[in-house]
Amino acid sequence: MKKKLKYLFENLCCSQCKNGFDEDSIEIKREESGLLVTHLTCQKCGKSFGVAFVGLSNIELKDNKNLALEVQDGPDAISYDDVIDAHRFIQNLDSDWHKYLPK
Ligand SMILES: [Zn+2]
Repeated sequence: MKKKLKYLFENLCCSQCKNGFDEDSIEIKREESGLLVTHLTCQKCGKSFGVAFVGLSNIELKDNKNLALEVQDGPDAISYDDVIDAHRFIQNLDSDWHKYLPK
C-alpha cells in the first residue's frame, strides 16, 4: 500500500531540504471508507508536512485483505498527539468530506 502511495508523492520534494519523498516518508494514520489519512514527513531533515487525505479510488487495489493488514501495521509508531490531531480533523469532516479528495 505504501509503495502505491509513494507514487502520489514522488513528484514532490521537501520544501526545506529538497529531499524527495519515499515510502518511508508516508505514515498511514487511519483508514476511512474510500479514504486514507496519511502523515508525510521528510526522512532527511524531519520536517513534517502534516496530514494528507488520499482517496483510495485513485489507487489500484487488488487485495483488500492485504490493505487492511497494512493499515493496522505499526500503530506504535503513531504518537498520541498525532492520533488526536487526525481524529479531530476527521470529526470535523461532514457529508462534504470528499471535497478533500483529489479531483
Ligand atoms: Zn527535508
